[in-house]
Amino acid sequence: MPGIYIHVPFCKQKCHYCNFYSVASFKYRDAFVPALLREIKLRNDYLSGKNINTVYFGGGTPSLLKTEEINTILNALNGTFNINNNAEITLEANPDDLSEDYLRQLRQETTVNRLSIGVQSFFDDDLEYLNRVHSGKEAQHAVERAQAAGFSNITIDLIYGIPTLTGEKWRKNLELFFAFDLPHLSSYALTVEPRTSLDVLIKKGKLAGVKEEPAVDHFNILLNETAARGFVHYEISNFAKKGCYSKHNSIYWLGGHYLGLGPSAHSFNGTSRQWNVSNLKQYTGADMVEKIVEEKELLSEKDRYNEYVMTSLRTTWGCDAEHIKNIFGETVKNRFETGIQPFIDRGEVINKNGTYILSGKGKLFADGIAAALFWD
Ligand code: SF4
Repeated sequence: MPGIYIHVPFCKQKCHYCNFYSVASFKYRDAFVPALLREIKLRNDYLSGKNINTVYFGGGTPSLLKTEEINTILNALNGTFNINNNAEITLEANPDDLSEDYLRQLRQETTVNRLSIGVQSFFDDDLEYLNRVHSGKEAQHAVERAQAAGFSNITIDLIYGIPTLTGEKWRKNLELFFAFDLPHLSSYALTVEPRTSLDVLIKKGKLAGVKEEPAVDHFNILLNETAARGFVHYEISNFAKKGCYSKHNSIYWLGGHYLGLGPSAHSFNGTSRQWNVSNLKQYTGADMVEKIVEEKELLSEKDRYNEYVMTSLRTTWGCDAEHIKNIFGETVKNRFETGIQPFIDRGEVINKNGTYILSGKGKLFADGIAAALFWD
């Protein structure tokens, strides 16, 4: 079932590693919600009457929105689309925004029913390296306050592979996560994206570089510890207790349709992908879809196959040879099976009756394995 993504492009300060579209300026803050409401009206037919199962406020920092603004946006969505009564409604939040008052209002006055809290680490030196705006203690208290306010469907983000993060600290971060008894964890390796502050600062020798070896150790610790606590590793960076998978992100991983609203947001309707301008001035001034959407691409058979292999291999549901045959034909299926055999021989992929999933070892090379199977 389709979902709606809303991109809220404001942050109090930029984290060094960040390559999402967000600005640490509030110049267009007041113009943002009216522009979003305009876009909701303009895009009312994108999901053509389908029932919407998820709404996801991502960013940027959506917890910078006032609860009244969240309600204004949700009311506009409800008035325009068929949003299910029991839809998963997620708000990404930074720990420093989650005061007792804000959480109470979110819980009691909005229909937000899932929080994704950007913790990243519970240690201050890691957070300083990343240039996060909050401290480790603040992160801990934010999760506690969210639970006290009545939120149970909470996920946190933790980053590993940070040069200041030792194996011991990483285990401690995971212990703290388990102590909260939360249903979901998203955990990513720190990557140095080109042209980010992190990239520049490392090149200038002002910050320590990111090494692969500790990240691999951390990843193995993560796999062992989450498995020991009964978490399902259902996507390469995501772990959940049974039945607590992110419904919204599963749409992306399972090839579902979604509408992205807000600057830089992407949309997909099964045949084409399009994305909005990554520019707040342009976005807030736009009065036509043509001015909001920066680019639209029709997906070729090859694109759709590559995307299916890339996303499905990263999930616990795996890559289904029969599905490849049904959608792309016997020749493509045969080529896929020939291409994946060396990875099976090396113990990186497991064939479960025609469904191919990554082994623990293969999870370390997910992107490389998928790339080797691409249809060029
Ligand atoms: S809070 Fe998130 S979106 Fe904002 S700068 Fe940090 S990583 Fe980027």
